[in-house]
Amino acid sequence: MLQINGIKLGIDEDEAVLKDRIEKKLHGKVKSFSIRRKSLDARREPVYVYSVLAEIEHEEKYLCKDVVRYVPADLKAKYRPRSQVCIIAGYGPSGIFAAYRLMEAGFRVIVFEKGKRISERQKDVERFFKEGILDEDSNVQFGEGGAGTFSDAKLTTRIKDPYIDYILDVFVEHGADPRIRYEPHAHIGTDEIRKIIERITDKLMEKGCEFHFSEPVRNLILDDSRKITGIITDKGIYSCDCFLSGIGHSAYETVRMFKEKGVHIEKKDIALGFRVEHPQSLIDARQTGGIIKEANEYFLRYKGEKGVYSFCMCPGGIVIPAMSEKQTIVTNGMSYAARDSLIANSAILIQIRKEEFTDGYEYLHGIERKAYDHSGSYKALSQNISDFMNGELKPLIRESTYPLGTVLYDFNQFFRKDDLQIVKQALRDFDRKIPGFIEQGIMIGPETRSSCPIRINRNETYESVNTPGLYPMGEGAGYGGGIMSCALDGIRIANAILLKYEQISGK
Ligand SMILES: Cc1cc2nc3c(=O)[nH]c(=O)nc-3n(C[C@H](O)[C@H](O)[C@H](O)COP(=O)(O)OP(=O)(O)OC[C@H]3O[C@@H](n4cnc5c(N)ncnc54)[C@H](O)[C@@H]3O)c2cc1C
Repeated sequence: MLQINGIKLGIDEDEAVLKDRIEKKLHGKVKSFSIRRKSLDARREPVYVYSVLAEIEHEEKYLCKDVVRYVPADLKAKYRPRSQVCIIAGYGPSGIFAAYRLMEAGFRVIVFEKGKRISERQKDVERFFKEGILDEDSNVQFGEGGAGTFSDAKLTTRIKDPYIDYILDVFVEHGADPRIRYEPHAHIGTDEIRKIIERITDKLMEKGCEFHFSEPVRNLILDDSRKITGIITDKGIYSCDCFLSGIGHSAYETVRMFKEKGVHIEKKDIALGFRVEHPQSLIDARQTGGIIKEANEYFLRYKGEKGVYSFCMCPGGIVIPAMSEKQTIVTNGMSYAARDSLIANSAILIQIRKEEFTDGYEYLHGIERKAYDHSGSYKALSQNISDFMNGELKPLIRESTYPLGTVLYDFNQFFRKDDLQIVKQALRDFDRKIPGFIEQGIMIGPETRSSCPIRINRNETYESVNTPGLYPMGEGAGYGGGIMSCALDGIRIANAILLKYEQISGK
């Protein structure tokens, strides 16, 4: 098979002409082809640039700088029934892909998830969005699929790793649009990712993976050498050979239990801020002059004394309440596959260094609780960006998409003095890059759950440095941020376990 790079198509050209373009480039007939990568080159007249994989006879005669041999990697784990029991806490992207991989290799896998299955969870989330009744165990953060289930399900990552294709293949095998394999900035949308995750769970169940929903892991059982031999839930005690913790960044209770058990944990830097909303038409016009038909994205970064950057941008999306504890406010963003809300939103975050707080969870919860105290309900805090810049508080120029409504709040009180100046400089910089960013923007917040304030340190075999058999993974352990990186971390952990037992059994 050949990989052919640098095939260009005009923005409005149909991909049906690709075969013809490949054959013209090669001066030969291709038997079949598939798209491997697609990117936008907007340096001059914008064009899409493709890399394709093609089957062609006598391939050696076509080899050149742009045409290279491609050998597909076989990343499937070798299946053989194994006696070791792997318990997984948390069924977000890291837990899902760790379970998937371990089942593929033949381990006995038991998943414990604090929240409910998606069909039930969806009802709880909808009720919260409509009536403001929050279920602390079943919400945007907790339940089958984890935190990314009520999201835009953007699949962007800068990580280069062969298992990225493996993850995308799993999504496609379970119903995702095959274009996610190559579209730049691919996203699935909350409506689609929910169905895909349910199918993955059903498949794992069919294969014998044991699931315990609404059953959080409450405690660890350690032997004299601190090795994990089992876990405790409200319903029972379960023995295991390995315990994989993929509990996400909002599982404060469980982290507290880990600390009490003496698991080695360190603080890490975080970021916080607010979400901004703009008319999608403003972003489309500024980013590509409306040439790209889909809702456009942006990524903004300001390098001042501290970094300020846009994060988790949701084109054509809505701002959502993403809290998991009562009497707190946390915002985040979500889009449906069609990205057609006509409003663009994104978090704007400033870095907070670990030296600036004692306990990151307490620090963030303090902000979330103060926001609730100001609001007196689950209505988020809001302000026109222009008013924030001028220290004023006038009615919003536009209603927010946040489903529970908002109350006016002067975000000048939100930041520490030095941070406030940096955030304002950043917004001026963003306004130079996207004119209208200040005038046409509103801010909604607070946004506090973009990163995890701790890292559960692990060694070269991916186990906790002082608790053998504990495999911390994903965002809540400080080893990922986003669906793809956390899914990949789950696979890395599963591979480490696979390697360990292959070495022990000599196979
Ligand atoms: C609203 C929203 C939108 C987002 N949008 C995107 C996006 O578009 N693209 C992107 O890449 N990322 C997005 N993210 C971030 C992404 O979802 C997370 O980075 C990712 O889900 C983290 O994966 P994880 O496996 O580490 O943990 P999580 O997905 O957080 O899953 C952890 C799971 O553990 C469970 N749990 C907690 N404690 C216990 C316990 N004691 N026992 C058992 N189970 C427990 C929780 O219920 C939860 O289901 C978004 C996040 C949110 C909240």
